Amino acid sequence: AVRLEAQRREVAKVLAPLRLKHDDLVEVQALMRQEMELGLGQETHANASVRMLPTYVCHTPDGTEQGEFLALDLGGTNFRVLVVQVTEEGIRMASEIYVIPTAIMQGTGEALFDHIIDCIVDFQMKQDLMTHTLPLGFTFSFPCQQVGLDKALLLTWTKGFSASGCVGQDVVQLLREAAERKHHAGLKVVALVNDTVGTMMSCGYEDPKCEIGLIVGTGTNACYMEEMRNVGTVEGDEGRMCINMEWGAFGDNGCLDHIFTSFDRVVDEQTINPGKQRFEKLISGMYLGEIVRHILLAMSDKELLFHGNPSPKLFTKDIFKTKFLSTIELDGLALRQIRQILQDLELDASYEDSVLMREVCHTVSMRAAQLCAAGLAAVVEKMRENRGLDRLSVTVGVDGTLYKLHPHFSHCLQRTLRDLAPNCTVKFMPSEDGSGKGAALVAAVACRTT
Ligand code: ADP
Repeated sequence: AVRLEAQRREVAKVLAPLRLKHDDLVEVQALMRQEMELGLGQETHANASVRMLPTYVCHTPDGTEQGEFLALDLGGTNFRVLVVQVTEEGIRMASEIYVIPTAIMQGTGEALFDHIIDCIVDFQMKQDLMTHTLPLGFTFSFPCQQVGLDKALLLTWTKGFSASGCVGQDVVQLLREAAERKHHAGLKVVALVNDTVGTMMSCGYEDPKCEIGLIVGTGTNACYMEEMRNVGTVEGDEGRMCINMEWGAFGDNGCLDHIFTSFDRVVDEQTINPGKQRFEKLISGMYLGEIVRHILLAMSDKELLFHGNPSPKLFTKDIFKTKFLSTIELDGLALRQIRQILQDLELDASYEDSVLMREVCHTVSMRAAQLCAAGLAAVVEKMRENRGLDRLSVTVGVDGTLYKLHPHFSHCLQRTLRDLAPNCTVKFMPSEDGSGKGAALVAAVACRTT
């Protein structure tokens, strides 16, 4: 019993830096707010870790939108071409998935955009749309400096793309030039949309209170409707504009260094972009499994797990998937299933090991949900102040596999948000096919208002 007691104390010591207190979260919320203000200011913009990019989307749907649209979705797990019909009865759509070979992702910009045009032509043939010129909305989920709804300069490629000659260029123009090269006359690009914005818009069609978009999948990001008078980086003071926060980069200026643990630092060092996207690396699907793996290795090293003998497999980067956290943390799960995961990793785990593993996973995923809540708390509180309200009632459109499939993430996110922003009533609405639907709705709203 004495030995067990000592062991419990050791475990608590390893996990302590990952357990954020209420005051820590209040501080993260305040830091996010500060970075948001910096990012919105004309003079301070360059020093902010949160880029607060204008999107030129100034209205959410009001239900009167109608028409037929083409949509492209590039930057998620798949590249897709869609046709979307927005009618009084609702939204109907058809889509095709197209593969973008790695050689094209990492080749020349011309080849990439030529390939995209080929896919559009193939889709239009299959859907019998060759003779139509439909307005096109382009969901392009990479950071862009947008200078108009249909003009957006690519800031950097992410997610394995590196096509040459694109960074600094207007992505819509690159698509139009490819259409010209391919003699495709019937292409009318009206809007370029970030996936967070698409998510907000698709949920906004169902719920007019939806003025925030959130993604928690491979990465994490958020957008919301900001008052134009607060957007120092765009001319004009009237009305609102959706701001793509690019919040994954929160902390890249060092402001979150005090909450990073040794595990977070190792994970960061082993990525292709060390020092970048630091907030995202605490929250999203691409990293949580890795954080857990490093904790397991540290615990094994202290002989708190696996009798001090981790399998050689556990030393392999990315072998511990984020979806394992979902399985391991399921309530009422037979510990047998946890042992199955352990066996696949060739770990010789006891019953006690399985219980401890679950505690580790839970600690990591709860921290992710709490940090996400602290970011959102900064957003909803700012919106409430902007509007001079005692209470704000708002809906968040959400997408991403981690949010949707993890058994406790969304619950913990909502509970923490209630705690941090008690004057806001926040509803969460999972989006269905936000990228495709959202791009069409941005195009539809643009056609409505012009
Ligand atoms: P994207 O963000 O690229 O559009 P997704 O929303 O599908 O893609 O998110 C993919 C991420 O979700 C992957 O990083 C993966 O680790 C994570 N993931 C996949 N399945 C699960 C699951 N069951 N529980 C939690 N995370 C998962």
